[in-house]
Amino acid sequence: MIAVLKNGTSDKQIESLKNWIESLGLQVHLSKGEYQTIVGLVGDTSRVDEDLLVSLDIVETVKRISEPFKSANRKFHPDNTVVSVGDTSVGGNIFAVMAGPCSVESEEQVIEIAKAVKAAGATMLRGGAFKPRTSPYDFQGLKAEGIEILLKAKEETGLPIVTEIMNAEHLPLFEKVDVIQVGARNMQNFELLKELGKTQKPILLKRGLSATIKEWLMSAEYIMAGGNENIILCERGIRSYDAQYTRNVLDLSAVPVLHELTHLPVIVDPSHATGSAKLVKPMSLAAAACGADGLMIEVHNNPKAALCDGPQSLTPEQFADVMQSAKAIAKNANNC
Ligand code: PEP
Ligand code: MN
Repeated sequence: MIAVLKNGTSDKQIESLKNWIESLGLQVHLSKGEYQTIVGLVGDTSRVDEDLLVSLDIVETVKRISEPFKSANRKFHPDNTVVSVGDTSVGGNIFAVMAGPCSVESEEQVIEIAKAVKAAGATMLRGGAFKPRTSPYDFQGLKAEGIEILLKAKEETGLPIVTEIMNAEHLPLFEKVDVIQVGARNMQNFELLKELGKTQKPILLKRGLSATIKEWLMSAEYIMAGGNENIILCERGIRSYDAQYTRNVLDLSAVPVLHELTHLPVIVDPSHATGSAKLVKPMSLAAAACGADGLMIEVHNNPKAALCDGPQSLTPEQFADVMQSAKAIAKNANNC
């Protein structure tokens, strides 16, 4: 349920309305826009006397929100959310690009790639320290040591770092990580999402392998229900029946749909979506054209020797070429 307040409502009046709603056991989500203040009521709204609410002097209109996602809903928060990450951001007037290897392999490898992607215009460095691999016999990542290496690369280049968490027990290791990634396989690991909701860290929430848009937004809602609103959504392709030529199906229509449904920023990962380096450029440009707030791209200094996802990894030179064109398109499409 939302209550749109009348122009000129004072902070004191808003505060007393908030206290009343909270006394009914509901949470309040306040959105103060340039022209309108919207009070979102989250929880069991059957406890609220709608006639009483609408009769208040300060209330202009009251509307029930039928969607099950509330805090993530654009109706609760008409303005775009801008997630700040160090000196940069996602969802604001910057086309955010997170680039780096699939997995952290060595300090030398990560620092070389970090310098190259920074020079090409990436705004953040990605790299997996804990790797969710389909086979238990494949490289599982350098774990805590991998995070240390990413932090060294951050020190060296100034790029904020993005890396994936697989277990809430590892949270202390992520204290200095700038953006915590929740991978596709963990999108519905609700206990993990609840723990992340208790932090104020930016969370990159990837779409599950076969998740609907509603399920994906409900996962964002889990994090937001705990009080963490710093969420970036990442479309990374969904499973379909034809994996012969592409690893997944990149659902670019999700980008404008999400921009309508939610105020959270949306980026696109063409690397995991396609599984093929030659498809990364066309899909990056398409993502920029359809309004994505940024990209996540896998880059390796020697893709043939990569311990993970080599076939979809770009060389630094290929990445620089993608960056140039994608940024120009994003500018034209007004995403930044
Ligand atoms: C990754 O980004 O390294 C990754 C494993 O992605 P996804 O969860 O989308 O498969
Ligand atoms: Mn990968």
